[in-house]
Amino acid sequence: MTRKVAWFDVSGFEKNFFKEIDTDLTITFFEQPLNEKTAELAKGFDAVSVFINSDVNEKVLKEIDVDIVACRSTGFDHVDIETAEKLGITVCNVPEYSSNTVAEHTFALMLSVSRKIYDAINKVKDGTFDHEGLRGFDLKEKTLGVIGTGSIGLNAIRIANGFQMEVVAYDPFPKHEESKKLGFEYVELNELLERSDIVSLHCPLNKHTEHIISEEEFEIMEEVVLINTSRGGLVDTEALIKALDDGSILGAGLDVLEDECGLSDDIDYLGEMEDKCDLQTILHDHILIKREDVVVTPHNAFNSEEALTRLVESTIDNLKEEKNPVNL
Ligand code: NAD
Repeated sequence: MTRKVAWFDVSGFEKNFFKEIDTDLTITFFEQPLNEKTAELAKGFDAVSVFINSDVNEKVLKEIDVDIVACRSTGFDHVDIETAEKLGITVCNVPEYSSNTVAEHTFALMLSVSRKIYDAINKVKDGTFDHEGLRGFDLKEKTLGVIGTGSIGLNAIRIANGFQMEVVAYDPFPKHEESKKLGFEYVELNELLERSDIVSLHCPLNKHTEHIISEEEFEIMEEVVLINTSRGGLVDTEALIKALDDGSILGAGLDVLEDECGLSDDIDYLGEMEDKCDLQTILHDHILIKREDVVVTPHNAFNSEEALTRLVESTIDNLKEEKNPVNL
């Protein structure tokens, strides 16, 4: 059977990719993300494929009537898994496509903060070729705290070993073999926050991890650099701004922001933004973006040629064979 797929939020890369390959899926591309406004486009299809900007909530799932929602991402917090399960819709993700890619971006952010790369480039572009105000710090012998030792977290630890950092990690499902092999130590979350010079987030966003770093956690940290390439909702944004102001956080490198949907061009008017996102949080996002001690990239950690190729290839397999189903 040829599965008819509505492929939402298509990129130029994906359109070109499909020109080069033969597939027995019948794919129709839509430029828009899938959400309440666009759900009717999915009518008559057997499956939908969505990127992270989609909002596949209960209302959308009830309207679209498909067998599969194939996420072109590792995280699937933009899909209401509980409702999908009740409706008998399989939701698939792509677990491994960017585990080295996101780990590499983690270090791009870390080095941007530790070596003030952004300020240095701007200074030179402005015509000043000196190092006034650009002194950074070494990563060597600093302690990196990794929260979440899945595929991205473990790759970040491998890279940290190359920089001769000490690594402590927290994960409710520890991988003791890997900790022996890679020479890192599992500790409780509070101990990690107390001991780390740099804290990097690599756990999924769900009801247990929302605001896993909040006011209480910032109080434990002392002069720490926070890196988040996972999901914005893991960090309480208002508390982060306070922690930057009081110096418990020295700087931050963020690829993801809380309520980043409110920063996207897809928002047509303020009322729509208010419906989808918390305006206060969006205001705080803008404050973070403007700060000199914070480096923000636009949810771009996955975005390498090689990772995108793996992403599309695995999504095709998921659509054909219902591989990589996710659970609650
Ligand atoms: P993974 O499933 O391999 O690993 C997640 C790890 O987090 C697991 O080891 C799990 O046990 C651990 N975990 C679960 N609950 C936790 C908690 N409360 N505290 C600490 N650890 C906990 O996932 P991954 O491939 O390593 O990806 C991690 C996250 O990175 C994804 O969920 C996604 O949100 C994010 N991501 C971001 C980008 C990007 O472009 N910025 C791209 C891919 C993935």
